[in-house]
Amino acid sequence: MGETELGAFRDELRGWLERNVPDDLRPENAARLPDEERQRRLRAWQHQLADARWVGITWPRAYGGRDAGIPEQIAYVEEMSRARAPEIVGNLGIGIAGPTILAYGTEAQKQRFAPRILTAEDLWCFGFSEPGAGSDLASLRTQATLKGDAFEVTGQKAWTTLGHHADWCMLLCRTDPETRRAKGISCLLVDMRSPGVAVRPLRQMTGDAEFNEIFFDAVKVPRENLLGELHEGWQLAVAALQNERGILYVVSMQIVLAEARDRLLAVARERDATRDPRLRQALAGLYLGTEIFRVTCQRTLDRLLRMGMPGPEASIIKLHWTELTQTVPQLGMQLLGPAGLLYDTPRGRDGGGNPAQWLQRGFLGAPAASIASGTSEIMRGIIAMQVLGLPRGV
Ligand SMILES: Cc1cc2nc3c(=O)[nH]c(=O)nc-3n(C[C@H](O)[C@H](O)[C@H](O)COP(=O)(O)OP(=O)(O)OC[C@H]3O[C@@H](n4cnc5c(N)ncnc54)[C@H](O)[C@@H]3O)c2cc1C
Repeated sequence: MGETELGAFRDELRGWLERNVPDDLRPENAARLPDEERQRRLRAWQHQLADARWVGITWPRAYGGRDAGIPEQIAYVEEMSRARAPEIVGNLGIGIAGPTILAYGTEAQKQRFAPRILTAEDLWCFGFSEPGAGSDLASLRTQATLKGDAFEVTGQKAWTTLGHHADWCMLLCRTDPETRRAKGISCLLVDMRSPGVAVRPLRQMTGDAEFNEIFFDAVKVPRENLLGELHEGWQLAVAALQNERGILYVVSMQIVLAEARDRLLAVARERDATRDPRLRQALAGLYLGTEIFRVTCQRTLDRLLRMGMPGPEASIIKLHWTELTQTVPQLGMQLLGPAGLLYDTPRGRDGGGNPAQWLQRGFLGAPAASIASGTSEIMRGIIAMQVLGLPRGV
C-alpha cells in the first residue's frame, strides 16, 4: 500500500472515530463503570466497530476483516490510541483464537466462530496452563476421552485470563493417555456454559480479579469442536502462542509503552523531579530504552512482513518489553514518594478503582509481565539456544 492509500485509510478511520467514540467509554472513564456494565457496553462498542469493519482488519474479507497489511495495522493501532478509543474487549479472540481457527479450522468452524469473534458476541479465553503445567506446558494432565460423538473432559486449568467473561475456551487437553509430553494433546473449542464447567476468579495484588481457575467435571464437548487433528494439538498451541507475540502485540506494545513513558515524564516535570541527578539519569535511561525498543519492534515487523512469523527473536521483544513495563511504575513510585502508598483498592467486580492512580496500579500489576505469555527465564532460554545458538544447560 502506498503513502496516499495509507493516508486515506487513516483519514477514514479518524473520521469514523471522531463521529462514533462514546466519551463515557474512553479508557479513563470506562474504569469507573461496574464490571458487568463495562463488559456489556464494551461488547456493544466492538459490535459497532465490527459492523463498520474496524476490527480484525488483517483478517480475510470473507470472515469480516479488511484483508489489510501490516502498515494499516500500525496506522490502526496508532489512530485508536490517538482517539483514546475504548478498549477492544475481544482482543484475545481477535489476536489469538481467531487467527488459530482461521489457520487450522474446518470451513464450518471458521463460518461459525470467526464472525462472532469480531462482533464480540463471543469472547474467548485460553485454557492452556494448569497448576502443574505452566512453563512446562507439555506436561498438562486435563483429560479428554472420546465417547461416541463427544469428548468427556475432566481436569483443571489455572490463570485463565477473562475466563469469567468468556463464552468459549480454547482448551488444550490430553486425548491419548498412553502418550506423554507434546504427543497425544488435542485442542478443543469448549462452550463455557456447558454443564460441568466451574469458574473461580483469582484475586491479584491490584485488587482486580482478571484471571481464574477453571474446573471441568465430565464436560461433554461435541466431536465437531475438535480444532485440527486428533492428538495433534501441540502445533496449534505453538501457533496460538506465536500469535500472542505476533503483529498485533508488537505494534500495540510499543505504542502503549511510549504513552506510559510520556505520562511518567509529565509527572516528573510537574514534580520538578528532573533536578535530582539520579532520577534524571534513570528517566533518560528509560527514554533511551523505549526508543531502542521501538527500533527493535520495527526490525521484527520487517521480518514479519517478509517471513510471516516472528521467529524466536520475538522473545527479545517480550523480555525487553517486560523490563521497561516494570521500570515505568517503579520510577513512578519513586517520584510519588510516600503519596504512592495511598492506593484505593478497586472494589472487586463492582468498581474499577481510581483511574488517576495508574502508577500504583501499574506498580502492583507489572510483576505479572515477567510471568504471562512465558516467563522471563524461559525467554532468556529461547534467546540463548535459538537466537544465539548456545548449548542447552544441564
Ligand atoms: C497475567 C497473566 C495472565 C495469564 N493468562 C493465562 C491464560 O489466559 N491462559 C493460560 O493458559 N495461562 C495464562 N497464564 C499463565 C502463564 O502462562 C504461566 O503462569 C506461565 O507460563 C508460567 O507458568 P507457571 O506459573 O506454572 O510457573 P512455572 O512454570 O512453575 O515456573 C516457576 C518458576 O520457574 C522458572 N522456570 C520454569 N521452567 C524453567 C526453565 N526451563 N528454565 C528456567 N527457569 C524455569 C520460571 O521462570 C518461574 O520463575 C497467565 C499468567 C499471568 C501472570
